[in-house]
Amino acid sequence: MSSLEQMYQQVIMDHARAGHGRGLKDPGLIHVGESHQVNTTCGDEIRLRVGLDGDTVSSVSWEGQGCSISQASVSVLSELVEGESLATAEETMEAFRELMQSKGEPLDDDREDLLGDATAFVGVGKYPARIKCAMLGWSAFKDAVIRAGKDQA
Ligand code: ZN
Repeated sequence: MSSLEQMYQQVIMDHARAGHGRGLKDPGLIHVGESHQVNTTCGDEIRLRVGLDGDTVSSVSWEGQGCSISQASVSVLSELVEGESLATAEETMEAFRELMQSKGEPLDDDREDLLGDATAFVGVGKYPARIKCAMLGWSAFKDAVIRAGKDQA
């Protein structure tokens, strides 16, 4: 394993342990959407809640269980998108999806800057079975944003 791969693995383990955003929060008087996603092939489960304040993702919280990739990925996601505009959150989601489809190849610098710690998941793209684990929290976020938007409309 290269030192870069070791560093990436450490980032994933740190996030799996830290669990940023873990514990469902009541975002208060803003528009809220919630999504429950299950990855049956691995046994991962995530319930994620988003609070929107206009065009800002003002709150992201979740509870879940499963493998360290699924739990680390939702932790990274929460840290990346909370407090950001919806447009930035959508760009970040798109970059992560591209990272998962890159078969382990790095993306360009702009998208890696956007992804921050999520870049550590690049190696997951080599293992199709694990991509579902890594995408679970992101799918939940996407769905929760749509639901929160309907609440707002
Ligand atoms: Zn998993």
